[in-house]
Amino acid sequence: MTTQDYDAIIIGSGQAGPFLAVRLAAASKKVALIERKVLGGTCVNTGCTPTKAMVACAKVAHTASEAAKYGVHLSGDISINLAEIKSRNDQIVQNSRDSLRKMLDNAKGCTVLYGQAKFTSPHEVQINDQTLHADQIFINVGGRAATPDLPGLKDIPYLTNSTLLQLTELPRHLIVVGGGAVGVEFAQIFRRLGSEVTLVEMKPALVHREDAAASKLMSELLEQEGIHLRLNSECVSFSPLPDGVCVHVSCKSDSPEVHGSHVLLAMGRIPNTSDLGLDAAGVRTDPQGFIPVDDQLRTNVPHIFALGDCNRRGAFTHTSYNDFEIVADNLLDGASRRVSDRIPVRATYSDPPLAQVGLTEEEARATGRELLIATRPMRSVARAIEKGETFGFMKALVDAQTKRILGATIFGVGGDEAIHCILSTMYADQPFTTLTHSVHIHPTVAELIPTLLGSLKPAD
Ligand SMILES: Cc1cc2nc3c(=O)[nH]c(=O)nc-3n(C[C@H](O)[C@H](O)[C@H](O)COP(=O)(O)OP(=O)(O)OC[C@H]3O[C@@H](n4cnc5c(N)ncnc54)[C@H](O)[C@@H]3O)c2cc1C
Repeated sequence: MTTQDYDAIIIGSGQAGPFLAVRLAAASKKVALIERKVLGGTCVNTGCTPTKAMVACAKVAHTASEAAKYGVHLSGDISINLAEIKSRNDQIVQNSRDSLRKMLDNAKGCTVLYGQAKFTSPHEVQINDQTLHADQIFINVGGRAATPDLPGLKDIPYLTNSTLLQLTELPRHLIVVGGGAVGVEFAQIFRRLGSEVTLVEMKPALVHREDAAASKLMSELLEQEGIHLRLNSECVSFSPLPDGVCVHVSCKSDSPEVHGSHVLLAMGRIPNTSDLGLDAAGVRTDPQGFIPVDDQLRTNVPHIFALGDCNRRGAFTHTSYNDFEIVADNLLDGASRRVSDRIPVRATYSDPPLAQVGLTEEEARATGRELLIATRPMRSVARAIEKGETFGFMKALVDAQTKRILGATIFGVGGDEAIHCILSTMYADQPFTTLTHSVHIHPTVAELIPTLLGSLKPAD
Protein backbone atom coordinates (compact mmCIF):
# COMPACT_ATOMS: atom_id res chain seq x y z
CA MET A 1 0.00 0.00 0.00
CA THR A 2 1.40 3.41 -1.00
CA THR A 3 1.37 6.53 1.17
CA GLN A 4 0.84 9.92 -0.46
CA ASP A 5 1.74 13.14 1.32
CA TYR A 6 -0.55 16.17 1.23
CA ASP A 7 -0.73 19.44 3.09
CA ALA A 8 -4.45 18.98 3.58
CA ILE A 9 -7.01 16.20 3.24
CA ILE A 10 -10.69 17.09 2.97
CA ILE A 11 -13.20 14.29 3.53
CA GLY A 12 -16.55 14.90 1.84
CA SER A 13 -17.58 17.26 -0.93
CA GLY A 14 -20.50 18.91 0.84
CA GLN A 15 -21.04 22.64 0.99
CA ALA A 16 -17.70 23.42 2.64
CA GLY A 17 -15.19 20.88 1.27
CA PRO A 18 -14.89 21.84 -2.42
CA PHE A 19 -14.63 25.56 -1.68
CA LEU A 20 -12.03 24.96 1.02
CA ALA A 21 -10.07 22.75 -1.38
CA VAL A 22 -9.98 25.54 -3.95
CA ARG A 23 -8.92 28.20 -1.40
CA LEU A 24 -6.18 25.96 0.03
CA ALA A 25 -4.93 25.04 -3.44
CA ALA A 26 -4.84 28.73 -4.41
CA ALA A 27 -2.58 29.24 -1.38
CA SER A 28 -0.15 26.68 -2.91
CA LYS A 29 -1.20 23.81 -0.65
CA LYS A 30 -1.27 20.25 -1.97
CA VAL A 31 -4.83 19.12 -1.30
CA ALA A 32 -6.75 15.83 -1.59
CA LEU A 33 -10.55 16.04 -1.64
CA ILE A 34 -12.20 12.65 -1.04
CA GLU A 35 -15.82 11.91 -2.01
CA ARG A 36 -17.50 8.51 -1.71
CA LYS A 37 -20.53 9.25 -3.89
CA VAL A 38 -20.96 12.28 -6.11
CA LEU A 39 -19.72 15.85 -5.89
CA GLY A 40 -21.92 18.35 -4.12
CA GLY A 41 -23.25 16.25 -1.24
CA THR A 42 -26.78 16.54 0.06
CA CYS A 43 -27.58 20.10 -1.01
CA VAL A 44 -26.80 19.64 -4.67
CA ASN A 45 -27.94 16.03 -5.13
CA THR A 46 -30.76 15.19 -2.73
CA GLY A 47 -31.47 18.33 -0.69
CA CYS A 48 -31.88 22.00 -1.47
CA THR A 49 -31.40 21.95 -5.24
CA PRO A 50 -33.80 19.18 -6.35
CA THR A 51 -36.40 19.99 -3.68
CA LYS A 52 -36.53 23.68 -4.51
CA ALA A 53 -36.73 22.76 -8.19
CA MET A 54 -39.75 20.60 -7.28
CA VAL A 55 -41.28 23.37 -5.15
CA ALA A 56 -41.22 25.44 -8.35
CA CYS A 57 -42.99 22.69 -10.34
CA ALA A 58 -45.59 22.24 -7.60
CA LYS A 59 -46.15 26.02 -7.54
CA VAL A 60 -46.84 26.02 -11.29
CA ALA A 61 -49.37 23.21 -10.82
CA HIS A 62 -51.02 25.11 -7.97
CA THR A 63 -51.12 28.40 -9.86
CA ALA A 64 -52.52 26.63 -12.91
CA SER A 65 -55.29 25.16 -10.76
CA GLU A 66 -56.12 28.68 -9.55
CA ALA A 67 -55.63 30.40 -12.93
CA ALA A 68 -59.30 31.28 -13.32
CA LYS A 69 -59.07 33.47 -10.19
CA TYR A 70 -56.64 35.63 -12.18
CA GLY A 71 -58.92 35.75 -15.22
CA VAL A 72 -56.76 33.22 -17.02
CA HIS A 73 -58.67 30.25 -18.41
CA LEU A 74 -56.82 27.11 -19.36
CA SER A 75 -58.50 24.74 -21.76
CA GLY A 76 -58.42 21.06 -20.85
CA ASP A 77 -57.27 19.31 -17.71
CA ILE A 78 -53.98 19.97 -15.98
CA SER A 79 -51.88 16.83 -16.00
CA ILE A 80 -48.67 16.12 -14.14
CA ASN A 81 -45.79 14.12 -15.57
CA LEU A 82 -43.49 13.21 -12.69
CA ALA A 83 -40.92 11.67 -15.04
CA GLU A 84 -40.56 15.05 -16.77
CA ILE A 85 -40.35 16.83 -13.40
CA LYS A 86 -37.61 14.38 -12.39
CA SER A 87 -35.75 14.91 -15.61
CA ARG A 88 -35.85 18.72 -15.13
CA ASN A 89 -34.53 18.19 -11.58
CA ASP A 90 -31.81 15.84 -12.77
CA GLN A 91 -30.62 18.37 -15.33
CA ILE A 92 -30.43 21.17 -12.75
CA VAL A 93 -28.54 18.86 -10.37
CA GLN A 94 -26.17 17.69 -13.11
CA ASN A 95 -25.40 21.28 -14.13
CA SER A 96 -24.57 22.13 -10.55
CA ARG A 97 -22.32 19.06 -10.17
CA ASP A 98 -20.61 19.85 -13.49
CA SER A 99 -19.80 23.38 -12.37
CA LEU A 100 -18.28 22.04 -9.13
CA ARG A 101 -16.24 19.55 -11.16
CA LYS A 102 -15.01 22.36 -13.42
CA MET A 103 -14.11 24.52 -10.41
CA LEU A 104 -12.09 21.66 -8.88
CA ASP A 105 -10.43 20.72 -12.19
CA ASN A 106 -9.19 24.29 -12.46
CA ALA A 107 -7.71 24.27 -8.95
CA LYS A 108 -4.02 23.49 -9.49
CA GLY A 109 -2.71 21.39 -6.62
CA CYS A 110 -6.09 19.85 -5.78
CA THR A 111 -6.69 16.13 -6.44
CA VAL A 112 -10.20 14.69 -6.23
CA LEU A 113 -10.32 11.04 -5.17
CA TYR A 114 -13.44 8.87 -5.14
CA GLY A 115 -13.96 6.28 -2.41
CA GLN A 116 -14.77 5.80 1.25
CA ALA A 117 -12.32 7.66 3.49
CA LYS A 118 -11.36 6.27 6.88
CA PHE A 119 -8.85 7.49 9.45
CA THR A 120 -6.08 5.05 10.32
CA SER A 121 -4.21 7.49 12.60
CA PRO A 122 -4.48 11.19 13.53
CA HIS A 123 -2.62 12.20 10.35
CA GLU A 124 -3.56 9.34 8.01
CA VAL A 125 -6.62 8.51 5.98
CA GLN A 126 -7.18 5.38 3.96
CA ILE A 127 -9.07 5.41 0.68
CA ASN A 128 -9.30 2.38 -1.62
CA ASP A 129 -5.75 0.96 -1.63
CA GLN A 130 -3.99 4.20 -0.73
CA THR A 131 -2.99 5.83 2.53
CA LEU A 132 -2.88 9.61 2.53
CA HIS A 133 -0.93 11.61 5.07
CA ALA A 134 -1.52 15.30 5.82
CA ASP A 135 -0.69 17.99 8.35
CA GLN A 136 -4.30 19.14 8.47
CA ILE A 137 -7.52 17.21 7.91
CA PHE A 138 -10.99 18.67 7.35
CA ILE A 139 -14.13 16.57 7.83
CA ASN A 140 -17.18 17.62 5.77
CA VAL A 141 -19.11 14.34 5.68
CA GLY A 142 -22.63 15.73 6.24
CA GLY A 143 -25.53 13.52 7.19
CA ARG A 144 -28.29 11.29 5.92
CA ALA A 145 -31.95 10.61 6.67
CA ALA A 146 -32.50 8.91 10.02
CA THR A 147 -34.19 5.52 9.66
CA PRO A 148 -35.13 4.66 13.25
CA ASP A 149 -35.16 1.02 14.21
CA LEU A 150 -38.95 0.79 14.42
CA PRO A 151 -40.77 -2.57 14.18
CA GLY A 152 -41.75 -3.47 10.62
CA LEU A 153 -39.59 -0.87 8.89
CA LYS A 154 -37.50 -3.50 7.14
CA ASP A 155 -40.70 -5.17 5.85
CA ILE A 156 -41.89 -2.15 3.87
CA PRO A 157 -40.40 -0.26 0.90
CA TYR A 158 -39.99 3.10 2.65
CA LEU A 159 -38.71 6.26 0.96
CA THR A 160 -36.22 8.90 2.13
CA ASN A 161 -35.46 12.35 0.71
CA SER A 162 -33.01 10.64 -1.67
CA THR A 163 -35.19 7.80 -3.00
CA LEU A 164 -38.37 9.89 -3.23
CA LEU A 165 -36.60 12.03 -5.83
CA GLN A 166 -36.15 8.94 -8.02
CA LEU A 167 -39.91 8.29 -8.44
CA THR A 168 -41.27 8.70 -11.94
CA GLU A 169 -44.90 8.04 -11.05
CA LEU A 170 -46.92 9.97 -8.50
CA PRO A 171 -47.72 8.10 -5.29
CA ARG A 172 -51.45 7.50 -4.96
CA HIS A 173 -51.30 8.28 -1.24
CA LEU A 174 -48.04 9.46 0.32
CA ILE A 175 -47.69 9.20 4.10
CA VAL A 176 -45.03 11.61 5.33
CA VAL A 177 -43.68 10.73 8.78
CA GLY A 178 -42.18 13.85 10.36
CA GLY A 179 -43.44 17.44 10.34
CA GLY A 180 -40.14 19.31 10.20
CA ALA A 181 -39.05 21.40 7.22
CA VAL A 182 -38.27 18.39 5.00
CA GLY A 183 -41.60 16.69 5.76
CA VAL A 184 -43.62 19.87 5.25
CA GLU A 185 -41.92 20.70 1.95
CA PHE A 186 -42.43 17.23 0.46
CA ALA A 187 -46.02 17.01 1.76
CA GLN A 188 -47.00 20.23 0.01
CA ILE A 189 -45.07 19.39 -3.18
CA PHE A 190 -46.77 16.01 -3.63
CA ARG A 191 -50.21 17.28 -2.66
CA ARG A 192 -49.94 20.05 -5.23
CA LEU A 193 -48.81 17.55 -7.84
CA GLY A 194 -51.93 15.50 -7.16
CA SER A 195 -51.11 12.80 -4.58
CA GLU A 196 -53.27 12.27 -1.55
CA VAL A 197 -51.00 13.14 1.38
CA THR A 198 -51.15 12.37 5.11
CA LEU A 199 -48.56 13.92 7.40
CA VAL A 200 -47.89 12.16 10.72
CA GLU A 201 -46.18 14.18 13.47
CA MET A 202 -45.77 13.20 17.12
CA LYS A 203 -45.64 16.80 18.38
CA PRO A 204 -48.81 18.94 18.62
CA ALA A 205 -47.49 21.27 15.89
CA LEU A 206 -45.58 21.26 12.60
CA VAL A 207 -42.11 22.90 12.37
CA HIS A 208 -42.39 23.08 16.15
CA ARG A 209 -39.15 25.00 16.76
CA GLU A 210 -40.45 27.95 14.74
CA ASP A 211 -42.44 30.93 16.04
CA ALA A 212 -45.55 29.40 17.64
CA ALA A 213 -48.01 31.47 15.57
CA ALA A 214 -46.18 30.54 12.37
CA SER A 215 -46.10 26.90 13.34
CA LYS A 216 -49.87 26.94 13.95
CA LEU A 217 -50.45 28.69 10.64
CA MET A 218 -48.38 26.07 8.82
CA SER A 219 -50.99 23.49 9.83
CA GLU A 220 -53.75 25.73 8.45
CA LEU A 221 -51.86 26.18 5.18
CA LEU A 222 -51.39 22.46 4.63
CA GLU A 223 -54.94 21.59 5.69
CA GLN A 224 -56.33 24.25 3.32
CA GLU A 225 -54.54 22.45 0.51
CA GLY A 226 -56.13 19.13 1.44
CA ILE A 227 -53.30 17.46 3.36
CA HIS A 228 -54.54 15.20 6.17
CA LEU A 229 -52.67 16.13 9.34
CA ARG A 230 -52.15 13.63 12.13
CA LEU A 231 -50.58 15.72 14.90
CA ASN A 232 -49.92 14.29 18.38
CA SER A 233 -49.45 10.96 16.63
CA GLU A 234 -46.24 9.11 17.25
CA CYS A 235 -45.31 6.65 14.56
CA VAL A 236 -44.55 3.38 16.37
CA SER A 237 -44.38 0.69 13.70
CA PHE A 238 -45.06 -0.21 10.08
CA SER A 239 -46.66 -3.14 8.28
CA PRO A 240 -47.18 -4.03 4.63
CA LEU A 241 -50.64 -3.96 3.04
CA PRO A 242 -51.63 -5.72 -0.22
CA ASP A 243 -51.74 -2.32 -1.99
CA GLY A 244 -49.33 -0.29 0.11
CA VAL A 245 -48.28 0.31 3.68
CA CYS A 246 -49.73 0.89 7.10
CA VAL A 247 -48.16 3.32 9.57
CA HIS A 248 -49.20 2.46 13.11
CA VAL A 249 -49.45 5.48 15.37
CA SER A 250 -49.87 6.00 19.06
CA CYS A 251 -52.46 8.71 19.67
CA LYS A 252 -55.25 9.57 22.08
CA SER A 253 -57.89 10.27 19.42
CA ASP A 254 -58.38 9.21 15.79
CA SER A 255 -57.39 5.94 14.15
CA PRO A 256 -54.22 4.12 15.25
CA GLU A 257 -53.55 3.14 11.62
CA VAL A 258 -52.74 5.31 8.63
CA HIS A 259 -52.96 3.55 5.25
CA GLY A 260 -51.25 4.76 2.12
CA SER A 261 -49.38 3.63 -0.97
CA HIS A 262 -45.94 5.04 -0.03
CA VAL A 263 -44.16 6.19 3.15
CA LEU A 264 -41.57 8.94 3.33
CA LEU A 265 -39.37 9.01 6.43
CA ALA A 266 -38.61 12.63 7.32
CA MET A 267 -37.67 11.93 10.93
CA GLY A 268 -34.46 13.93 11.18
CA ARG A 269 -30.87 13.49 10.04
CA ILE A 270 -27.91 11.61 11.42
CA PRO A 271 -24.23 12.44 10.80
CA ASN A 272 -22.08 10.25 8.51
CA THR A 273 -19.46 9.66 11.17
CA SER A 274 -19.83 6.03 12.30
CA ASP A 275 -17.71 4.58 9.46
CA LEU A 276 -15.03 7.28 9.46
CA GLY A 277 -12.58 5.59 11.83
CA LEU A 278 -12.67 8.59 14.18
CA ASP A 279 -11.36 6.45 17.06
CA ALA A 280 -8.10 5.87 15.18
CA ALA A 281 -7.66 9.64 14.96
CA GLY A 282 -8.72 10.25 18.57
CA VAL A 283 -11.60 12.50 17.45
CA ARG A 284 -14.45 12.55 19.95
CA THR A 285 -18.15 12.50 19.03
CA ASP A 286 -21.27 13.20 21.07
CA PRO A 287 -23.78 10.39 21.80
CA GLN A 288 -25.58 11.03 18.50
CA GLY A 289 -22.35 10.84 16.50
CA PHE A 290 -21.91 14.58 15.87
CA ILE A 291 -18.38 15.96 16.21
CA PRO A 292 -18.07 18.73 18.81
CA VAL A 293 -15.93 21.67 17.65
CA ASP A 294 -14.68 24.91 19.17
CA ASP A 295 -15.62 28.37 17.92
CA GLN A 296 -13.11 28.05 15.06
CA LEU A 297 -14.30 24.57 14.09
CA ARG A 298 -11.39 22.56 15.53
CA THR A 299 -12.23 19.13 16.95
CA ASN A 300 -10.57 17.93 20.15
CA VAL A 301 -7.60 17.01 17.92
CA PRO A 302 -6.28 20.47 16.98
CA HIS A 303 -5.16 19.72 13.39
CA ILE A 304 -8.52 18.10 12.54
CA PHE A 305 -11.49 20.35 11.77
CA ALA A 306 -15.16 19.44 11.28
CA LEU A 307 -17.36 21.55 9.01
CA GLY A 308 -21.02 21.44 8.02
CA ASP A 309 -23.88 19.37 9.39
CA CYS A 310 -21.61 16.81 11.11
CA ASN A 311 -20.54 19.38 13.75
CA ARG A 312 -24.12 20.24 14.83
CA ARG A 313 -23.40 23.98 14.68
CA GLY A 314 -25.80 24.35 11.78
CA ALA A 315 -27.92 22.17 9.53
CA PHE A 316 -28.00 24.25 6.40
CA THR A 317 -26.06 24.90 3.25
CA HIS A 318 -25.37 28.49 4.30
CA THR A 319 -24.01 27.39 7.70
CA SER A 320 -21.75 24.77 6.10
CA TYR A 321 -20.49 27.32 3.55
CA ASN A 322 -19.92 29.81 6.37
CA ASP A 323 -17.89 27.14 8.20
CA PHE A 324 -15.64 27.01 5.12
CA GLU A 325 -15.27 30.80 5.13
CA ILE A 326 -14.38 30.86 8.83
CA VAL A 327 -11.75 28.12 8.52
CA ALA A 328 -10.24 29.50 5.31
CA ASP A 329 -10.07 33.10 6.53
CA ASN A 330 -8.56 32.06 9.87
CA LEU A 331 -5.97 29.67 8.44
CA LEU A 332 -5.01 31.56 5.31
CA ASP A 333 -5.66 35.23 6.04
CA GLY A 334 -4.85 35.40 9.75
CA ALA A 335 -8.45 36.31 10.60
CA SER A 336 -10.13 35.39 13.87
CA ARG A 337 -13.65 34.65 12.68
CA ARG A 338 -15.93 32.63 14.96
CA VAL A 339 -19.00 30.46 14.54
CA SER A 340 -20.67 32.30 17.42
CA ASP A 341 -20.66 35.52 15.34
CA ARG A 342 -23.21 33.92 13.01
CA ILE A 343 -26.82 35.04 13.38
CA PRO A 344 -29.22 32.10 12.94
CA VAL A 345 -31.28 32.44 9.77
CA ARG A 346 -33.31 29.83 7.91
CA ALA A 347 -36.35 29.19 5.75
CA THR A 348 -38.84 26.38 5.38
CA TYR A 349 -39.68 26.25 1.68
CA SER A 350 -43.38 25.78 1.95
CA ASP A 351 -45.25 28.07 -0.42
CA PRO A 352 -45.36 30.73 0.91
CA PRO A 353 -42.01 30.28 2.65
CA LEU A 354 -41.50 30.63 6.38
CA ALA A 355 -38.34 32.62 7.08
CA GLN A 356 -36.79 33.22 10.48
CA VAL A 357 -33.85 35.30 11.64
CA GLY A 358 -32.52 35.54 15.19
CA LEU A 359 -34.86 34.74 18.05
CA THR A 360 -38.47 33.63 17.75
CA GLU A 361 -41.02 35.44 19.92
CA GLU A 362 -40.96 32.58 22.44
CA GLU A 363 -37.15 32.62 22.61
CA ALA A 364 -37.07 36.43 22.96
CA ARG A 365 -39.62 36.35 25.79
CA ALA A 366 -37.60 33.64 27.53
CA THR A 367 -34.60 35.99 27.72
CA GLY A 368 -36.58 38.16 30.17
CA ARG A 369 -35.66 41.36 28.30
CA GLU A 370 -38.04 44.25 27.87
CA LEU A 371 -39.39 43.74 24.35
CA LEU A 372 -41.00 45.76 21.59
CA ILE A 373 -43.05 43.76 19.13
CA ALA A 374 -44.83 44.41 15.85
CA THR A 375 -46.93 42.13 13.67
CA ARG A 376 -48.48 42.77 10.28
CA PRO A 377 -50.66 40.41 8.24
CA MET A 378 -49.57 39.76 4.66
CA ARG A 379 -53.04 40.90 3.56
CA SER A 380 -51.78 44.42 4.42
CA VAL A 381 -48.78 44.12 2.09
CA ALA A 382 -49.46 45.65 -1.34
CA ARG A 383 -47.16 43.32 -3.24
CA ALA A 384 -48.83 40.28 -1.69
CA ILE A 385 -52.28 41.63 -2.62
CA GLU A 386 -51.17 42.27 -6.21
CA LYS A 387 -49.80 38.75 -6.45
CA GLY A 388 -52.95 37.29 -4.92
CA GLU A 389 -50.86 35.64 -2.21
CA THR A 390 -51.90 37.19 1.09
CA PHE A 391 -51.43 34.18 3.37
CA GLY A 392 -49.26 34.74 6.45
CA PHE A 393 -47.73 37.53 8.51
CA MET A 394 -44.51 39.30 9.41
CA LYS A 395 -43.32 39.95 12.94
CA ALA A 396 -40.34 41.75 14.45
CA LEU A 397 -38.93 41.75 17.99
CA VAL A 398 -36.75 44.54 19.32
CA ASP A 399 -34.89 45.02 22.60
CA ALA A 400 -36.61 48.04 24.17
CA GLN A 401 -33.37 49.23 25.81
CA THR A 402 -30.80 48.82 23.05
CA LYS A 403 -33.21 49.25 20.09
CA ARG A 404 -31.48 46.28 18.45
CA ILE A 405 -33.60 43.79 16.50
CA LEU A 406 -33.59 40.45 18.29
CA GLY A 407 -35.41 38.46 15.67
CA ALA A 408 -38.05 38.40 12.96
CA THR A 409 -40.41 35.97 11.30
CA ILE A 410 -41.79 36.40 7.81
CA PHE A 411 -44.25 33.72 6.81
CA GLY A 412 -45.44 34.97 3.47
CA VAL A 413 -44.68 35.46 -0.19
CA GLY A 414 -41.09 36.67 -0.69
CA GLY A 415 -40.29 36.23 3.01
CA ASP A 416 -37.15 34.21 2.28
CA GLU A 417 -35.69 37.19 0.39
CA ALA A 418 -37.09 40.09 2.41
CA ILE A 419 -35.74 38.74 5.73
CA HIS A 420 -32.21 39.56 4.61
CA CYS A 421 -32.53 43.30 5.17
CA ILE A 422 -33.30 42.51 8.82
CA LEU A 423 -30.38 40.06 8.97
CA SER A 424 -27.95 42.65 7.63
CA THR A 425 -29.13 45.29 10.10
CA MET A 426 -28.68 42.82 12.95
CA TYR A 427 -25.24 41.77 11.72
CA ALA A 428 -24.16 45.41 11.43
CA ASP A 429 -25.34 45.85 15.04
CA GLN A 430 -27.44 48.87 14.07
CA PRO A 431 -30.67 50.01 15.78
CA PHE A 432 -33.99 49.22 14.10
CA THR A 433 -34.28 52.90 13.13
CA THR A 434 -31.62 52.28 10.45
CA LEU A 435 -34.28 50.28 8.68
CA THR A 436 -37.18 52.62 9.37
CA HIS A 437 -35.17 55.49 7.85
CA SER A 438 -34.15 53.60 4.73
CA VAL A 439 -36.31 53.86 1.63
CA HIS A 440 -37.22 50.56 -0.01
CA ILE A 441 -38.48 49.86 -3.50
CA HIS A 442 -42.23 49.93 -4.05
CA PRO A 443 -43.95 47.54 -4.41
CA THR A 444 -41.99 44.88 -2.56
CA VAL A 445 -42.56 42.77 0.53
CA ALA A 446 -39.39 44.28 2.02
CA GLU A 447 -40.78 47.82 1.80
CA LEU A 448 -43.23 46.92 4.57
CA ILE A 449 -40.43 46.08 7.00
CA PRO A 450 -39.80 49.76 7.87
CA THR A 451 -43.57 50.17 8.25
CA LEU A 452 -43.69 47.07 10.47
CA LEU A 453 -40.89 48.46 12.65
CA GLY A 454 -42.68 51.81 12.77
CA SER A 455 -45.55 50.10 14.58
CA LEU A 456 -43.52 48.51 17.41
CA LYS A 457 -45.34 48.37 20.75
CA PRO A 458 -44.24 47.12 24.18
CA ALA A 459 -44.89 43.39 24.44
CA ASP A 460 -47.39 42.45 27.15
C1 LIG B 1 -34.58 17.34 1.54
C2 LIG B 1 -33.62 18.37 2.05
C3 LIG B 1 -33.79 19.69 1.70
C4 LIG B 1 -32.90 20.65 2.17
N1 LIG B 1 -33.11 21.95 1.82
C5 LIG B 1 -32.27 22.90 2.29
C6 LIG B 1 -32.46 24.26 1.94
O1 LIG B 1 -33.39 24.60 1.21
N2 LIG B 1 -31.57 25.16 2.41
C7 LIG B 1 -30.52 24.81 3.21
O2 LIG B 1 -29.74 25.68 3.61
N3 LIG B 1 -30.32 23.53 3.56
C8 LIG B 1 -31.16 22.56 3.12
N4 LIG B 1 -30.94 21.26 3.46
C9 LIG B 1 -29.77 20.93 4.30
C10 LIG B 1 -28.50 20.93 3.43
O3 LIG B 1 -28.66 20.04 2.35
C11 LIG B 1 -27.26 20.57 4.23
O4 LIG B 1 -27.25 21.33 5.40
C12 LIG B 1 -26.04 20.90 3.38
O5 LIG B 1 -25.95 20.00 2.29
C13 LIG B 1 -24.72 20.92 4.14
O6 LIG B 1 -24.20 19.68 4.26
P1 LIG B 1 -22.67 19.38 4.51
O7 LIG B 1 -21.79 20.37 3.87
O8 LIG B 1 -22.51 19.19 5.96
O9 LIG B 1 -22.47 17.95 3.81
P2 LIG B 1 -23.28 17.18 2.72
O10 LIG B 1 -23.86 18.12 1.73
O11 LIG B 1 -24.21 16.25 3.38
O12 LIG B 1 -22.12 16.36 1.99
C14 LIG B 1 -21.30 15.43 2.63
C15 LIG B 1 -20.55 14.63 1.60
O13 LIG B 1 -19.60 13.78 2.27
C16 LIG B 1 -19.56 12.53 1.62
N5 LIG B 1 -19.04 11.57 2.59
C17 LIG B 1 -19.61 11.18 3.76
N6 LIG B 1 -18.82 10.30 4.40
C18 LIG B 1 -17.74 10.12 3.63
C19 LIG B 1 -16.56 9.32 3.75
N7 LIG B 1 -16.34 8.57 4.82
N8 LIG B 1 -15.66 9.36 2.74
C20 LIG B 1 -15.85 10.15 1.66
N9 LIG B 1 -16.93 10.92 1.51
C21 LIG B 1 -17.86 10.92 2.47
C22 LIG B 1 -21.00 12.31 1.22
O14 LIG B 1 -21.11 11.37 0.17
C23 LIG B 1 -21.43 13.70 0.78
O15 LIG B 1 -21.21 13.91 -0.59
C24 LIG B 1 -31.81 20.27 2.99
C25 LIG B 1 -31.62 18.92 3.33
C26 LIG B 1 -32.52 17.98 2.88
C27 LIG B 1 -32.31 16.54 3.26
